[in-house]
Amino acid sequence: MTAWPTSSREWIERLVAFDTTSARSNLELIDFVEAYLRSLGADCRRSSDTAELKANLFATLGRPGPGGVVLSGHSDVVPVEGQPWSSDPFKVEARDGRLYGRGTADMKSFLAVALALAPAFLRLDPMRPLHLAISYDEEVGCLGVSSLIAQIDRELARPALVIIGEPTSMQIVNAHKGVCAFETTIRGRAAHSSQPQLAANANLAAGRLVAFLGDLAAERRRAASADSRFDPPYTTFNIGRIEGGTALNIVAADCRVIWEFRPLPDDDPEAIVARITDHIAEELLPRLRENAPEAAIETRALARVPALRPEDEGPAEALVRRLTGLNDSAAVAFGTEGGLFQEAGYSVVVCGPGSIDQAHRPDEFIEIAQVQACEKFLHDLARSVARQPVL
Ligand SMILES: [Zn+2]
Repeated sequence: MTAWPTSSREWIERLVAFDTTSARSNLELIDFVEAYLRSLGADCRRSSDTAELKANLFATLGRPGPGGVVLSGHSDVVPVEGQPWSSDPFKVEARDGRLYGRGTADMKSFLAVALALAPAFLRLDPMRPLHLAISYDEEVGCLGVSSLIAQIDRELARPALVIIGEPTSMQIVNAHKGVCAFETTIRGRAAHSSQPQLAANANLAAGRLVAFLGDLAAERRRAASADSRFDPPYTTFNIGRIEGGTALNIVAADCRVIWEFRPLPDDDPEAIVARITDHIAEELLPRLRENAPEAAIETRALARVPALRPEDEGPAEALVRRLTGLNDSAAVAFGTEGGLFQEAGYSVVVCGPGSIDQAHRPDEFIEIAQVQACEKFLHDLARSVARQPVL
């Protein structure tokens, strides 16, 4: 028989020890957590779009049925390569009231506290279920969770609300920006650099695209509203990577640009995309085709995370306010899976232990006091779900 971790601390150590960098499989972690939850009698379901290399896990503790609360977190972490760590990132080390390790803040501690709490929740003989949603590939654009959400819709009664445990230092976050990421591939025509009149320079077209994105970014910045809760208070753009051409004396035939924008909840991402694709079709492509009718520009979406909108009297936020006694809610610039849950019709709030300032960095850590605050929060939540017929 496996000796399961019992405390939050033991669970944090266990979860961090699985190297679930997004590029790798997360199945060892999922197998372990699923076996534990099944040993408690949980209903467990997996979903995946990635040929069995990775999986989401959706587990229901307590009597299945409609309602209950979803505690949602991602299993993957960002890479440690090239980062100067003072200790092994996959072995939790305690120093100065902190736990160091990759994923301690973002966001294995939240999952760890929820897993440690499961037996106590079941002892309450709950009236409503508590659900755990553990996804893959969040860090590479929230790619995994959509199949989990679709599986709930297909197979299960709808839970009442969703709490996303991303690190907010246990503050309530009810709004975040979206993420829309793209790859634009430009195919021109090569020629000797002395004969540009026979060629179509893909790098030049890429430069024009980048300049246009820069103009859009400046336009959004100028349109910033003074009373916005967001920092910065406008939709931002980034050109993440440009790869083009092969040599000084060859007109570049191919160039690839990876870019994104992060829309405010009130900025329509479809309208922004339409302006860019119109500009490509009406300005960039005709110029590229002057000497090379076969030239092409293709843009494909890499990731799309909807922004999280503040809900009017949302039950998720109301519950967290009641349990924590907090009256304020914040807006953050980072995206979460909450946008996708909300788009699917759920009431969503983000609240979890640890600070986003420590996420993705070398020597990532969580304050032990944050873990304790999360324990109290989830214990109160568990009692509320157990006693609450309306949830
Ligand atoms: Zn995260």
